[in-house]
Amino acid sequence: MAKIFCVANQKGGVGKTTTTVNLAAGLAKVGQRVLVVDLDPQGNATMGSGIDKRALALTVYDVLLESATIAEARQRSEAAGYDVLGANRELAGAEVELVELDRREQRLKTALAAAAADYDFVLIDCPPSLSMLTLNGLCSAHGVVVPMQCEYFALEGLTDLVNTIKQIHANLNPDLQIIGLLRVMFDPRITLQQQVSEQLKAHFGEKVFDSVIPRNVRLAEAPSYGMPGVVFDGASKGAQAFIDFAKEMVQRVSAMR
Ligand code: ADP
Ligand code: MG
Repeated sequence: MAKIFCVANQKGGVGKTTTTVNLAAGLAKVGQRVLVVDLDPQGNATMGSGIDKRALALTVYDVLLESATIAEARQRSEAAGYDVLGANRELAGAEVELVELDRREQRLKTALAAAAADYDFVLIDCPPSLSMLTLNGLCSAHGVVVPMQCEYFALEGLTDLVNTIKQIHANLNPDLQIIGLLRVMFDPRITLQQQVSEQLKAHFGEKVFDSVIPRNVRLAEAPSYGMPGVVFDGASKGAQAFIDFAKEMVQRVSAMR
C-alpha cells in the first residue's frame, strides 16, 4: 500500500513543485512505483512531468467531483518514470463547488484508497494556500514534506503551517505528521542561510532532512523541457541532491512502517 505525502507550504515560489517532481523522479529511479497528484490549478507539476495540461480529458478535478476514478484519469509519464493525476485551470472552480458537497475535505482520500495498491509512494503537490484543495491533500496524507528556503521570514511562515497540521491531526486525520523540513535553493556562501539553517535544526531537530537541495540552474531549466531535473540532467548537483533525498525518504518511510 502506498505511503501518501503532501508537499506543502502556504508560500508560493518556495520549491514545492520542484520538490514534488524531482522527488518523484528520484524515487522512480530507485525502483519505487510513484503517483504524482497535482492539486494546483496552475498545473505546473503536470507540465513539469511532461504532460500537457491543456490536452487532458480528465483531471484531479473530475476525481474530486467523483465523476472519474484515479485509474481513469491518471496519465503515464514515460519521460519521468511515474504516473500523474493532472490539473489545469478547471481545478480553480473546485474550491467553490466542493463547499456545497458532503465529505468535501475527504474526496481525494476516498479516491486514493482505490488506487493505493498500485503504488509505493503518492506525492501530492499542493497549491500555495491553506484552501479546500490543500485540506483534501492533508486529509489524504500520512505525512507532509515542507520545502523551505532558509530566509529571514521562513520560520515565521512555518508556525501557521505547523498549527494547521496540528489541527488537522487532532480533528480530521490522526495519521498526519510532518515527515520533514527540506532545505531548498540553498546557497552555503550566504551567511544568513547558514544561520537560518542552524536555527531550523535547533528548533526542529531530526525533523530537518539531512539532504539539502542547492540552488541549481539545471533544476530551474528542466520544466521548460517537460521533465524533472533528475531526468533532464541527472549528473547536475541539483539532480544528485534530489536522488540522495529520495533515498533518505525511502529510509524514513521504512522506519515509519
Ligand atoms: P512552488 O511550487 O512552491 O511555487 P516552484 O517549485 O515552482 O515553487 O519553484 C519556484 C521557482 O524557483 C521556479 O522557477 C523553479 O524553477 C525555481 N527553483 C526551485 N527550486 C530551485 C533550485 N533548487 N534551484 C534553482 N531554482 C529553483
Ligand atoms: Mg507549485
